[in-house]
Amino acid sequence: MKIGGWVILLLVSATHAGAVDLCLPTANDALLRGRDADFYQPTVEGTVESGSFGCVRRGGRRFHEGIDIKCLQRDARGESIDPVHAVGEGTVAFINSKPGLSNYGRYVVLEHVWDGVEVFTLYAHLRDVAGGLAVGQSVQKGQVLGRVGRSTNTKEGITPDRAHLHFEINLMLNPNFRAWYAKRDPKAPPFGNFNGRNLVGLDPAAFLRAYAANRKLNFAEYVARQPVAFTVLVGARPLRWVERHPEQLRGNQAAPVAYEVAVTGWGMPVAVWPRSAEEIGAAAQRQLQRGQPVLQRVDGAVAESTACRQLLERAGSGWRLSVSGREWVELLTYR
Ligand SMILES: [Zn+2]
Repeated sequence: MKIGGWVILLLVSATHAGAVDLCLPTANDALLRGRDADFYQPTVEGTVESGSFGCVRRGGRRFHEGIDIKCLQRDARGESIDPVHAVGEGTVAFINSKPGLSNYGRYVVLEHVWDGVEVFTLYAHLRDVAGGLAVGQSVQKGQVLGRVGRSTNTKEGITPDRAHLHFEINLMLNPNFRAWYAKRDPKAPPFGNFNGRNLVGLDPAAFLRAYAANRKLNFAEYVARQPVAFTVLVGARPLRWVERHPEQLRGNQAAPVAYEVAVTGWGMPVAVWPRSAEEIGAAAQRQLQRGQPVLQRVDGAVAESTACRQLLERAGSGWRLSVSGREWVELLTYR
């Protein structure tokens, strides 16, 4: 009996030590077979690329923070019926069941923990949400969340032939977003922390392909490898981000005067270094004391390729934080 108990214990710990277990959000697996044209649902612009993640719309000027996955099955009226699946086990974090409130229409957000990292997956434009699905409920990998659809509140709408799943993989910038945003926009829809501004994404297609090629892929390491567009110095008040993402803390400066945060061009922090007064210098310290963040380093090529996200803007031969970039810092550092 005791031996049997040990075996079970070892199996359980082996499962926990193992990799994250994921599936695709719909039955459309053309992405993994190199057939992008069968996978991405183009916008009315018509290019395959317009359904992918990044600066892919309006000639590269407009950001698309997710991927649009083509539906495979339709009913007699031509409406999509593909089931939408939870990509991994998790908890229902948010449901918007009133399509008129959002350009995402009906959408569901799940919270997961992948290799110790709190991650949110988002499933938008749903035709319907699975009966009984409720916030706080646990879901299993592959569980049906609803059906692919075309719900949205935009004037132009989504025609039946363009029904698709808009899918995102995000980290949450600030768990106190609700309080920060309520002051700025008291009439904002009741989305709490699940407002697009508070969710910072990476390319789900690139991640799903990397994961399919290596199912032992460590998500924390994957995030750490994302290209950095810039680093920014912020005052060393305790950062909620560091509290929630200790895996990103580099070095162990005992009494930092600042944090240097490395950020992707899409607005996702990927590493944080505590910095001493000597490391940042007097000018940067003065700027921080005036409550202004310091743009420390910029990778011009990455900044250029992610310019549609508009966190940085050109200033002479260099770059500076834009209005929305400074707002991003404000949200990151809000207590
Ligand atoms: Zn989309």
